[in-house]
Amino acid sequence: MFLQKPLKYYFNSLAPYIDEETMYEHYDKHYKKYTEKLNEEVLKLESDGIYPSNNIVELLKNYSSITAIRNNGGGFFNHLLYFDNISPFGNQYEFAKDSLKILINKTFGSYELFKEMFKQAGLGVFGSGWVWLIKHNNMLKIATTKNQDNPIMSLDCDILLGMDVWEHAYYLKHKSNRAGYIDDFFEIIDWKVVSQRL
Ligand code: MN
Repeated sequence: MFLQKPLKYYFNSLAPYIDEETMYEHYDKHYKKYTEKLNEEVLKLESDGIYPSNNIVELLKNYSSITAIRNNGGGFFNHLLYFDNISPFGNQYEFAKDSLKILINKTFGSYELFKEMFKQAGLGVFGSGWVWLIKHNNMLKIATTKNQDNPIMSLDCDILLGMDVWEHAYYLKHKSNRAGYIDDFFEIIDWKVVSQRL
């Protein structure tokens, strides 16, 4: 049984960057739906005599060829990562671990250049999808995925940071201004959490 991870802040805590209504819809409707559907799909597998891991990473690595598991398991895991890698305190890069800052500088040149590349990646996702900062072969990399896909479905990597660029993540406040949402997202990245995933 997969459960939504409780938020460490209130729906209105991320304002003015993400508004309360967006947070409510996103956490309590979208993420909830993916979680419920994932549990239904796992029960269906079990009724067919297949007992997948109750570890979401293992489940996605082994069963993402099943579309309903891919979409809903991805939706479950991506939102777990997303809501956990943001927090209300604003502009928190100074709290990133030195080891992460060193890797960011080495890979992208500077934090500012990383931000710009991550933003461009987000603007480049056509339709619904995600932008990721991942560690693969001891190197950092920016990756994008479509729909609710996730890099671990196809690559042996660690996910450090996930940014949802589905319209449901920003449309109520930012309308079609995805760039504005991405700028606001940078204000609420929880770099302590991102560092812990390194
Ligand atoms: Mn979402």
